[in-house]
Amino acid sequence: MKISKTLISKEEIENKISEIAETINSKYKDEELVVIGILKGAFIVVSDLAKQLQIDVTFDFMSIKSYYGSESSGQIKIIKDLEYDISNKNILIVEDIYDTGLTLSSLKKLLESRNPKSIEIFSMFVKKGVSKDPIEIDYSGFEIGPEFVVGYGLDYNGKYRELPYLALLS
Ligand code: 5GP
Repeated sequence: MKISKTLISKEEIENKISEIAETINSKYKDEELVVIGILKGAFIVVSDLAKQLQIDVTFDFMSIKSYYGSESSGQIKIIKDLEYDISNKNILIVEDIYDTGLTLSSLKKLLESRNPKSIEIFSMFVKKGVSKDPIEIDYSGFEIGPEFVVGYGLDYNGKYRELPYLALLS
């Protein structure tokens, strides 16, 4: 498999991150925020976003595995849990891509059970029309088609995460 086409350029991504950071800065200007990055894919989004935040913020990371069985609800297994207690905190879940929505909807339910003060979700890429378990995405970077994409944190067999742009493989 090789990169066949750039779908979203580095510049477009940088501009979008700045735009979203500005919205988050104004929304949380008087509030503390815990940003929760979902590993591994979200490590690049979180680090680019972090550099543009000018609020009272802490960062934590979670690693989860999704199981797509016959149940439509989906199941997740925690590989690495949060370090901080999120009860009574404003949290922002940062994910690389929203595809079927199963991962984020299960994760949101799980984190809701820990009684945060509020939960918002930022997904850098959102696949159009493929959502099986729709949940509200508060900040979405780019809507894309159903094709498999790599780059900007997203991998194919562990490769291509480092690309500063989003690409298609062929
Ligand atoms: P969902 O539960 O929304 O279907 O799945 C989200 C997860 O599937 C993402 O966190 C990501 O790991 C993986 N995924 C979904 N679509 C793609 C894609 O086009 N490329 C890559 N590399 N991973 C994807």
